Amino acid sequence: MNEPARQEILGGIMSKKILELLLQELKKVRIVCKGKRDGKPCGATFEIPMGSLKGFFPEDKCRCPFCGQSFYPEMEGLTFKNPFNPLAEAIEGLLAISGKATVTFVIEESENALQDVECDAD
Ligand SMILES: [Zn+2]
Repeated sequence: MNEPARQEILGGIMSKKILELLLQELKKVRIVCKGKRDGKPCGATFEIPMGSLKGFFPEDKCRCPFCGQSFYPEMEGLTFKNPFNPLAEAIEGLLAISGKATVTFVIEESENALQDVECDAD
């Protein structure tokens, strides 16, 4: 992803262009906490290199270390497991088959793009 497009996304405005991102271009995962600290949005930001994502949050402490917000999925029928580890394993597996297939992520223009990238203000 080129830098101007990235800045637009971080600023809350999705680029109108269709972006295609090679799996190999995924370098970091950014996680912004939506929990609360002293009644205010926590906003703690974690930038984790892809190679360090697996195990970054311990299986029994998958939560924000600043406000305690749980990062475990709370979905019916889903086991309470660290959701970042399977992502890291999937990416690791896909990188391992890069000689067999090219994997890209496609970000298309969307009417709902603004709502998709804006943080909850509540
Ligand atoms: Zn937090």
